[in-house]
Amino acid sequence: MRAVPTDHEDKRSVFTEERQHLLQQIDELTVGGQVDLDFDDDFSDRSLVASEQGENRSLASVLQAQLILVERALARLDDGTYGTCEICSNPIGAARLEALPATSYCIEHADTAPRWPTEQG
Ligand SMILES: [Zn+2]
Repeated sequence: MRAVPTDHEDKRSVFTEERQHLLQQIDELTVGGQVDLDFDDDFSDRSLVASEQGENRSLASVLQAQLILVERALARLDDGTYGTCEICSNPIGAARLEALPATSYCIEHADTAPRWPTEQG
């Protein structure tokens, strides 16, 4: 554990790579920002295709939510607020940043943070 986590520049390349990775995955799942609805018109496959489209759609929305967090983290690196809580402006603990590098809330305000779509319900 680093005792004095003052320099977050090492995170920038991590987030940049993560963003590229997410964009690529989203691109594979979607066409022009929409989930790819092009499918074979074989009647017997329709229900299977429909469920695959549903899975693609929910996976794409998870990836897009992650992308938003990563882009926000990059923006916060730019304006120097990375590593501080958006609500109370207190520093976010190093261990928490290590576990959730894209988080913008301290442990106290973790409950008010938007959850991953997969954690809802
Ligand atoms: Zn806070």
